[in-house]
Amino acid sequence: MFRDRLAAVEERIHNACARSGRNRSSVTLIAVSKLFGPPQMREAYECGLRDFGENYVQEFAGKAPDLADCTEARFHLIGHLQSNKTRVASDIFQVIQTVDTPKLARRLNDSGQKLQVMVEVKLSDEDSKSGADPGDVPALVQGIRGCPNLHLLGLMTIPPWTDQAEASRPYFQRLLALARDHQVEALSMGMSHDFEVAIEEGATHIRVGTALFGQRRKT
Ligand SMILES: *Cc1c(COP(=O)(O)O)cnc(C)c1O
Repeated sequence: MFRDRLAAVEERIHNACARSGRNRSSVTLIAVSKLFGPPQMREAYECGLRDFGENYVQEFAGKAPDLADCTEARFHLIGHLQSNKTRVASDIFQVIQTVDTPKLARRLNDSGQKLQVMVEVKLSDEDSKSGADPGDVPALVQGIRGCPNLHLLGLMTIPPWTDQAEASRPYFQRLLALARDHQVEALSMGMSHDFEVAIEEGATHIRVGTALFGQRRKT
């Protein structure tokens, strides 16, 4: 079952790469495993997946011990991080994709762990979303570059929810333009319904949950 869904996702990635003249190896598939347990994650690992995305620090702190033997796995935090959870987060995640304030960057740096980070950028006016305003990105990027324990990979964004993949394209284009302005490489963008568009617009990391694991239970 998982293997079949993975094959379908890989075919979509392959086709999007072919259409846009990109190498498959330039796109990292992150399996978004929030609300799925260690057994499902292990199955994904055994199928060759190495990058996992989790939204909730607390939830993943509970699962991480069961996955300790998956030594090649890299865990990305893709949900909002409160600054009082930076210490726990820096112990269990290798990549924090949701840095959106200088304070959060400083706290992560102070944890003493070497971490890879991305800046989450908010490109729409939805109140509920976290993420830095584009105007605040220059100072934030500079702040992170001054943190010896943090390595800035790039930018991440979550466009407003819609099931129309094309509606995400302008957001992906804006993230690409911002990444060029700041000379960062990584672009984490695209989810189950719109990752082909993201790949066409330069995504280096796509975050795919439902298309790999099936529907999540409602929270
Ligand atoms: C849940 C989530 C995803 C995965 O969404 P799917 O539609 O299930 O692929 C990707 N990115 C973020 C930030 C998420 O919270």
